[in-house]
Amino acid sequence: MVGAPKARKCTSCGPDRCVECGLSNRRYVVDLSAYSLYDVVTGDAFDAPTLDLLASDPLELVRRTSVRTDAELTPGFAPYVGCPQA
Ligand SMILES: [Zn+2]
Repeated sequence: MVGAPKARKCTSCGPDRCVECGLSNRRYVVDLSAYSLYDVVTGDAFDAPTLDLLASDPLELVRRTSVRTDAELTPGFAPYVGCPQA
Protein backbone atom coordinates (compact mmCIF):
# COMPACT_ATOMS: atom_id res chain seq x y z
CA MET A 1 0.00 0.00 0.00
CA VAL A 2 1.33 3.40 -0.88
CA GLY A 3 2.47 5.23 2.23
CA ALA A 4 1.91 2.34 4.58
CA PRO A 5 4.66 1.54 7.05
CA LYS A 6 6.18 -1.88 6.67
CA ALA A 7 7.00 -4.27 9.47
CA ARG A 8 9.09 -7.38 9.92
CA LYS A 9 9.39 -9.79 12.78
CA CYS A 10 12.30 -8.83 15.02
CA THR A 11 15.07 -11.41 15.10
CA SER A 12 17.07 -9.78 17.91
CA CYS A 13 14.65 -10.15 20.82
CA GLY A 14 15.92 -11.57 24.07
CA PRO A 15 13.55 -13.01 26.66
CA ASP A 16 12.97 -9.64 28.35
CA ARG A 17 15.09 -7.11 26.47
CA CYS A 18 15.73 -6.01 22.89
CA VAL A 19 17.80 -3.11 21.58
CA GLU A 20 16.25 -3.35 18.12
CA CYS A 21 12.49 -3.35 18.67
CA GLY A 22 12.40 -2.50 22.38
CA LEU A 23 9.83 -5.29 22.78
CA SER A 24 7.28 -2.96 21.18
CA ASN A 25 4.87 -3.43 18.26
CA ARG A 26 4.36 -7.07 19.26
CA ARG A 27 8.08 -7.62 18.57
CA TYR A 28 7.92 -6.33 15.02
CA VAL A 29 10.34 -3.74 13.66
CA VAL A 30 8.39 -1.06 11.82
CA ASP A 31 10.02 0.56 8.82
CA LEU A 32 8.65 4.07 8.68
CA SER A 33 9.85 4.72 5.16
CA ALA A 34 7.03 5.06 2.68
CA TYR A 35 6.80 4.83 -1.06
CA SER A 36 5.88 7.92 -2.99
CA LEU A 37 5.43 8.57 -6.68
CA TYR A 38 8.54 10.10 -8.15
CA ASP A 39 8.46 9.33 -11.84
CA VAL A 40 6.96 6.92 -14.35
CA VAL A 41 8.99 4.96 -16.85
CA THR A 42 7.27 3.06 -19.64
CA GLY A 43 9.61 0.84 -21.61
CA ASP A 44 12.83 2.79 -21.57
CA ALA A 45 11.37 6.31 -21.55
CA PHE A 46 9.93 8.66 -18.95
CA ASP A 47 6.14 8.82 -19.23
CA ALA A 48 5.03 12.37 -18.30
CA PRO A 49 1.33 11.91 -19.17
CA THR A 50 1.05 8.87 -16.89
CA LEU A 51 3.01 10.68 -14.19
CA ASP A 52 0.56 13.59 -14.38
CA LEU A 53 -2.40 11.20 -14.25
CA LEU A 54 -1.11 9.28 -11.24
CA ALA A 55 0.01 12.42 -9.41
CA SER A 56 -3.46 13.90 -9.72
CA ASP A 57 -5.52 10.75 -9.11
CA PRO A 58 -4.67 8.91 -5.88
CA LEU A 59 -7.22 6.16 -6.57
CA GLU A 60 -5.64 5.39 -9.94
CA LEU A 61 -2.21 5.45 -8.28
CA VAL A 62 -3.33 2.81 -5.79
CA ARG A 63 -4.93 0.72 -8.54
CA ARG A 64 -1.70 0.64 -10.51
CA THR A 65 0.60 0.09 -7.56
CA SER A 66 1.71 -3.39 -6.63
CA VAL A 67 4.37 -4.81 -4.42
CA ARG A 68 4.31 -8.27 -5.93
CA THR A 69 4.34 -9.45 -9.50
CA ASP A 70 4.55 -12.60 -11.55
CA ALA A 71 6.46 -10.73 -14.22
CA GLU A 72 10.14 -11.32 -14.76
CA LEU A 73 12.47 -8.99 -12.97
CA THR A 74 13.76 -6.09 -15.00
CA PRO A 75 17.37 -6.81 -15.93
CA GLY A 76 19.66 -5.06 -13.49
CA PHE A 77 17.19 -5.23 -10.58
CA ALA A 78 17.05 -7.74 -7.73
CA PRO A 79 14.48 -8.31 -4.99
CA TYR A 80 15.48 -6.76 -1.67
CA VAL A 81 16.30 -8.97 1.31
CA GLY A 82 13.02 -10.11 2.83
CA CYS A 83 10.97 -9.27 -0.27
CA PRO A 84 7.68 -11.22 -0.20
CA GLN A 85 7.57 -13.89 -2.85
CA ALA A 86 4.39 -14.64 -4.77
ZN1 LIG B 1 13.24 -7.29 19.22
